[in-house]
Amino acid sequence: MAQKIVAGNWKMNLQFDEALSLVEGILEGNRPSDVDVMAFPTALYVHALSEKVKDEISVGVQNFSPKESGAYTGEMSISQVKSLGASIGLIGHSERRAIFSETNEDLKEKVDASIAKGFRFIFCCGEPLEIREAGTEFSYVKNQLEASLFHLSANEMMNGIIAYEPVWAIGTGKTATSSQAEEMHAEIRSWITEKYSSEVAQSVSILYGGSCNNKNAQELFACPNVDGGLIGGAALKPASFLEIINAF
Ligand code: PEP
Repeated sequence: MAQKIVAGNWKMNLQFDEALSLVEGILEGNRPSDVDVMAFPTALYVHALSEKVKDEISVGVQNFSPKESGAYTGEMSISQVKSLGASIGLIGHSERRAIFSETNEDLKEKVDASIAKGFRFIFCCGEPLEIREAGTEFSYVKNQLEASLFHLSANEMMNGIIAYEPVWAIGTGKTATSSQAEEMHAEIRSWITEKYSSEVAQSVSILYGGSCNNKNAQELFACPNVDGGLIGGAALKPASFLEIINAF
């Protein structure tokens, strides 16, 4: 069975003292033992936060370079973020794709670097509004996965994490309905089954992201193919994030 996961993507939000209070609030709250909780703060806070949360919450980075070292001003390598306590990274968030022009090829390089370094990742995919309106969302998302992720071997895909985040739902307050989410998640799992095996497909956690909050998480997480959520805005307050963690 796929691991249940609730991950908070804090984006470029929170001052350091606010980030500390947020993790303190999460640590103090009730968290079911079968849910993996993850936090993706700005990389600047990774060291302090990972010291604070020990093994209770996985601390990750929102971005990293696939390069090992060298003249890449402003970048940070997997070894560097690992040395600060990051155990996982986001790859392919729609804001990285749209604002920072990251291509499927760039994301493939990050996937390969992560595998080579034993660094876990959440691979994000999802269609923009015009693709949904054109009715071509399934082929669009399948292409994202085929271009950057499905070259991995079955062993490498085992226990992987994919986040389906329709771009039109991110930060808009417009959540996908539970049937829209379930439909895409079921498709993603069927593509993994076709490409690899049902054993691999059942081991991959498929998270929903896009205006998931404490009001709608329960309905989304009740879908058979939704294994949890990647949460933006609603992850910034301990009370709402804790409600989401407890929504299974
Ligand atoms: C995200 O950025 O991954 C996200 C899902 O944001 P929000 O929950 O705010 O839509």
